[in-house]
Amino acid sequence: QAKDSGRNRYRFFAQSMNEQLKRQREIATCLRQSLEHDEFALVYQPQINLNTEEIVSCEALLRWTPTSPDSWTSPGEFIPVAERSDLIIRIGQWVIKAACRQVAKWRSLGIKDLRIDINVSGKQVHHSHFFEGLTQTLSDHGLTPRDIGIELTENVLISADSDMLGKIMLFRNAGMEISIDDFGTGYSSLSYLKLFPVQNLKIDRSFVVEAPHNPKDQAIMEAIVNVGHRLDMKIVVEGIETIEQAEYSRSLGCDLAQGYLFYKPMPAGELYKLIKPTVQIES
Ligand code: C2E
Ligand code: MG
Ligand code: MG
Ligand code: MG
Repeated sequence: QAKDSGRNRYRFFAQSMNEQLKRQREIATCLRQSLEHDEFALVYQPQINLNTEEIVSCEALLRWTPTSPDSWTSPGEFIPVAERSDLIIRIGQWVIKAACRQVAKWRSLGIKDLRIDINVSGKQVHHSHFFEGLTQTLSDHGLTPRDIGIELTENVLISADSDMLGKIMLFRNAGMEISIDDFGTGYSSLSYLKLFPVQNLKIDRSFVVEAPHNPKDQAIMEAIVNVGHRLDMKIVVEGIETIEQAEYSRSLGCDLAQGYLFYKPMPAGELYKLIKPTVQIES
């Protein structure tokens, strides 16, 4: 009897595996079509100085906007699918172009220093033309590496070779901000913090959620803030939703924050209204 139920469970598991693979194939097909039809958009979430609450930069977050709304899914689902195929390369290029176009537009409207941080997948950076492509796109839009930042996960840094390290150094020396995203959730090894000249450590939201009440999360957050600051990095807390979480992060000395409590991701036009220069130059 136990065997039977085991077998049923196996059958159920196999079936749901099948369903999952089927869905992933469907998503990949739709993504490919959407690339042809430009059915993507970026939204921007401000990153604020935790002490002054001033907006210092914004993170570009991809949204998929296919014409049939029932196939809409979140990046949490479609990015991993894109990463498993080579689609992430083309989607990544689309994101970089769109973000550069936006910064260039803001610059022309008189916003001098708001940076856009772009999420970059491992496959993308490991692709042989990533850095050349980035340089080209920046110069096509009259921008420099100072105008953007990139967010990489720990897993990307761990698999980096000296060639990639060298390229990252070049960009960083040219003024590009580099952040480690979702810090503490990857195959963490602190040794890469020694090798990589990153400016920002973004503490994953999962540590922040219960931190005001949970001593284990507190221990982890304190350790991250400590090591980051000792290495001259800024600490960014992600996913702040409550005043308590903000207060707690502030009390630890975190520098920057992002979260629904302050701002949700929004279209470029909405963000422009928040940050537009107060003195309007009529033309
Ligand atoms: P991420 O880079 O860690 O981005 C932060 C995610 O947390 C975003 O989800 C954001 O909307 C969400 N978030 C921000 N504040 C809060 C909050 O207060 N509460 C909660 N519950 N969530 C908050 P989103 O936009 O769904 O993106 C999910 C992930 O998808 C991103 O995580 C990133 O890993 C990936 N992603 C998004 N856009 C891109 C992209 O253009 N390229 C690549 N390669 N990955 C992307
Ligand atoms: Mg990110
Ligand atoms: Mg993150
Ligand atoms: Mg995350």
